[in-house]
Amino acid sequence: MATIPETKENRPLNGNDPARKTVHLPGELPGQKPSPEKSNRRPILEIKELHKEFDNFTAVNRVSLTLYEGEIFALLGSSGCGKSTLLRMLAGFEKPTSGSILLDGKELTGIPPYKRPVNMMFQSYALFPYMTVEQNIAFGLKQSKLPHKLISERVEKMLKLVHMEDYCDRKPYQLSGGQRQRVALARSLAKEPRVLLLDEPMGALDKKLREQMRLELVDIINSVGVTCLMVTHDQEEAMTMADRIAVMDKGEFIQIGGPREIYENPNCRFCAEFIGSVNIFDCHLLSSNATQSLIRATDFPNLIELSHDIDLADGMPLTIALRPEKVYISHKKPEESTNWCEGVVDNIAYLGDISIYYVRLTDGRIVSATLPNVDRFKEGLPTWDDHVYLSWDPESCIALTF
Ligand code: ATP
Repeated sequence: MATIPETKENRPLNGNDPARKTVHLPGELPGQKPSPEKSNRRPILEIKELHKEFDNFTAVNRVSLTLYEGEIFALLGSSGCGKSTLLRMLAGFEKPTSGSILLDGKELTGIPPYKRPVNMMFQSYALFPYMTVEQNIAFGLKQSKLPHKLISERVEKMLKLVHMEDYCDRKPYQLSGGQRQRVALARSLAKEPRVLLLDEPMGALDKKLREQMRLELVDIINSVGVTCLMVTHDQEEAMTMADRIAVMDKGEFIQIGGPREIYENPNCRFCAEFIGSVNIFDCHLLSSNATQSLIRATDFPNLIELSHDIDLADGMPLTIALRPEKVYISHKKPEESTNWCEGVVDNIAYLGDISIYYVRLTDGRIVSATLPNVDRFKEGLPTWDDHVYLSWDPESCIALTF
């Protein structure tokens, strides 16, 4: 058993001072880019009730979406949810069963891929192996029969944009993964498309390079100002790169919002569980008014208290979602009567920047809490088999009724 830490009055160890907490209602989350819908950006691409059936299987189910000028938008979802089918319909490689795609107000369905002002960068990059970097970038421009001088100028500009001027005579096999990706991006941007489609843009890169390339790609896209729709199943990628994200499941958009909005205000249990880690409690509502809601969780004896109203009749079931980084862990019993539970440290995952504590409650269920490893040699931290108390702020709980 570890000694009880002598930290300031046995404060929770997360380093999050509860006194500094503020309530942020949906739409006013700090650190979130202004929504493109609310800024003065012009709508460019409008998808209306777009639908795709394959032999009676619905791959994309009547989805609607507006993309704004210069926006980076990510379609995020697990394998088979319909992301690529939607992207392929926009590129013109797949014919929609019904619905419409408007680009700058003009209908795109029926227009062949090569005539659409849309370009797609494939996960495999699909560079021509026998062509040099320069020839790869120039390929689409030559196909469009642009004047020779314009092609040279455009290729030069693209090589500069992706920092590949020194590699223009190399063939793809003579490049690293990151360099190949930059060439593919340059080739996709060379024709100055109105919309750039990215299919798993980091899919072919290893983890380290992927992290490095994300912001580089965003910088390049932003410097050109092109509107971008990307498909990914990597939530970190979507959250780092996109202005807005659509979480997709079974061919439908479950939630659309900024990265922070989707993480902090998921609109249903599926989104809460899909993005990041979360503790989920099955509950029912005891009472609710404008400033306080009291909730009974089936897993532990204390009530859960929220500092806002829940639009649900008393007694009705609901789910409480609680992110692990919002859970305090302490050896000391909280003084409050609500928003805490107790258990024994079952496991600790040390990940370097954070440690994840898995705490087993008396009924056997596991609740996780993360601690940032701010100090290199902090003493008194809970360890395996310690009896600990987990607590949280009323604003940290997300009440979900779907
Ligand atoms: P992944 O991340 O694995 O690429 P995804 O979200 O991009 O998945 P899609 O490729 O859009 O998924 O496929 C959506 C669903 O449609 C899948 O169940 C897939 O099997 C089905 N599907 C896709 N193309 C066809 C086709 N040509 N014929 C029949 N079914 C198809």
